[in-house]
Amino acid sequence: MKLILVFGALFGHIYCRETFVGDQVLEVIPRNEEQIRHLVELEAEEHLQLDFWKSPTIPGETAHVRVPFVSVQAVKVFLESQGIAYSIMIEDVQVLLDKENEEMLLNQRRERNGNFNFEAYHTLEEISQAMDNIVAEHPGLVSKVNIGHSFEKRPMNVLKFSTGGDKPAIWLDAGIHAREWVTQATALWTANKIASGYGNDVSITSILDMMDIFLLPVANPDGYVFSQTNNRMWRKNRSRIPGSRCVGVDLNRNWDAGFGGPGASQNPCSDSYRGPQATCEVEVKSIVNFIQSHGRIKAFITLHSYSQLLMFPFGYTCTKPDNFDELNEVAQKAARSLTSLHGTKYKVGSICSVMYQASGGSIDWSYDYGIKYSFAFELRDTGRYGFLLPANQILPTAEETWLGLKTIMEHVRDHPY
Ligand SMILES: [Zn+2]
Repeated sequence: MKLILVFGALFGHIYCRETFVGDQVLEVIPRNEEQIRHLVELEAEEHLQLDFWKSPTIPGETAHVRVPFVSVQAVKVFLESQGIAYSIMIEDVQVLLDKENEEMLLNQRRERNGNFNFEAYHTLEEISQAMDNIVAEHPGLVSKVNIGHSFEKRPMNVLKFSTGGDKPAIWLDAGIHAREWVTQATALWTANKIASGYGNDVSITSILDMMDIFLLPVANPDGYVFSQTNNRMWRKNRSRIPGSRCVGVDLNRNWDAGFGGPGASQNPCSDSYRGPQATCEVEVKSIVNFIQSHGRIKAFITLHSYSQLLMFPFGYTCTKPDNFDELNEVAQKAARSLTSLHGTKYKVGSICSVMYQASGGSIDWSYDYGIKYSFAFELRDTGRYGFLLPANQILPTAEETWLGLKTIMEHVRDHPY
């Protein structure tokens, strides 16, 4: 009886998970505006269930799209009929997911001895435990601050790094998009780096002598859990909108910054659904309330993946922010520092110039709110694995990202305002 229950629980867990057998990710290169139009039309065909990992923007720039197995033939025929060049980036998505899952299970067995492995992907519970451990190991420096709860009532916990007193602060968050797993992992590694660096690392010590750091490793806990238990490709949160059959809001389209403008959807079934009103999502609201009540946040940095970009405002408009020259200079310097470790190349610029126009994003809100140093990273890679970055790239990603983050933090430290 016990055995049946155990296996029942095991398989129940596996069986409710969506599979992606035979799904392919295609790299598409539109040659001209007309071909881009065709791709946008293709995206709108809901029955094809296409998942654009990277949207088509300008001629000559690649787009990446996950095509469900049942649509693969139709999409390829369409692309060929329009003369749109494409190649297969991921042959079978499920093969990568099986490998990822296997590695997570193997790592869980290895971690039973109590040693946390920063080079593996973890469940939300494991991340929470690791955060508690960091606090326990550095009681004079690190504390846990609860800033609210998610839609499904999971706690939103921030790590506060502070040497005491009432200091201006730097905000850093990750995982606002659920499936961008390397960001939550990078944030956790970064937390450990900062905690163990105070008193040992000159740069970390000098930053923390001047400023506090607040780090939210999982900004979208419901989405993160769902991406592990049900659908690895989940991006949004898990809020239910009355009257809609579709679940979730894109938390990076819900901020009160050009809300409702271009680059966000009004369709609740879309992956970039902005939600019914600005800041209506509790995860966004919790962060906004915290930042506003703190009152002295001087930098706002958010981690996304993928594409290897370091961006600053704006996304909702293509006009330059007042501080363009300084932001651009800091970002260029940070990217150079990041690249110096493993040669990973980054593009730098405003969201609108290096990605696409997108409204309701977090760093546009923070900048307009008065936080001059607002930056967004898109971490590794450029599409070979996309959101399914293998766990053996967590460490190099986190290490190089730290060099970029450190450069920004040093600049903030040296340029009080
Ligand atoms: Zn993202």
